[in-house]
Amino acid sequence: MCGIVGAIANRDVSPVLLEGLRRLEYRGYDSAGMAVLTNGSIDRVRRTGKVSELSAALDQSALIGELGIAHTRWATHGIPAENNAHPHICNDRVAIVHNGIIENFEELKAKQSKQGFSFTSDTDTEVIAHQIVFYLDQGSSLNEAVSKTIKDLKGAYALGVIDKNDPDKLIAARSGSPLVIGIGVKGNFIASDVQALLKETQEFIFLENGDIAEITRDAINILD
Ligand code: GLU
Repeated sequence: MCGIVGAIANRDVSPVLLEGLRRLEYRGYDSAGMAVLTNGSIDRVRRTGKVSELSAALDQSALIGELGIAHTRWATHGIPAENNAHPHICNDRVAIVHNGIIENFEELKAKQSKQGFSFTSDTDTEVIAHQIVFYLDQGSSLNEAVSKTIKDLKGAYALGVIDKNDPDKLIAARSGSPLVIGIGVKGNFIASDVQALLKETQEFIFLENGDIAEITRDAINILD
């Protein structure tokens, strides 16, 4: 289990995400990645190895946007490789980062394969992104889709979710794995550890098991 950082603000959040990942480096990890909503589409950069390698890649092709998520991965399912690094994206629409282990991912994967979803990773995580899109396609709102999805999951998770069709919202959820919300000025943040956000804020909400939080630039709504 490794690190999550997420942000929504009235400014480019990629420096906050990168700094957050650096602050989580004290935990071991094998790869790192970031996804940001840029001009209506989700752009992503992932690298195996250190956050410095992700940072060098971002120097070549910057991610700029007001909503984004980032991750350092400690592989549990699937080797350390770029295609297994988070964020995972489904249908160019939903991006997620996940800490933890989904015990029933094989069952969900079999069902989703029949529904026509294809897989680009060997992780247990990718089923979460697909399941959220499955419910969105059925007409659920993003909050509802995440809420229905977590009912389908067995195991431990901390999640950060963004949807390109819902550009003013970051969704967080947790059970088993830790996740905090950092309350900022003209922006709010999530992280697996307060350490990641101490440069941005000293004010935190600690999510309880089973909580889902809907986070905008100026509001936090916890749906338990
Ligand atoms: N189980 C997930 C994976 O292997 C998440 C690992 C983590 O918590 O970093 O990709």
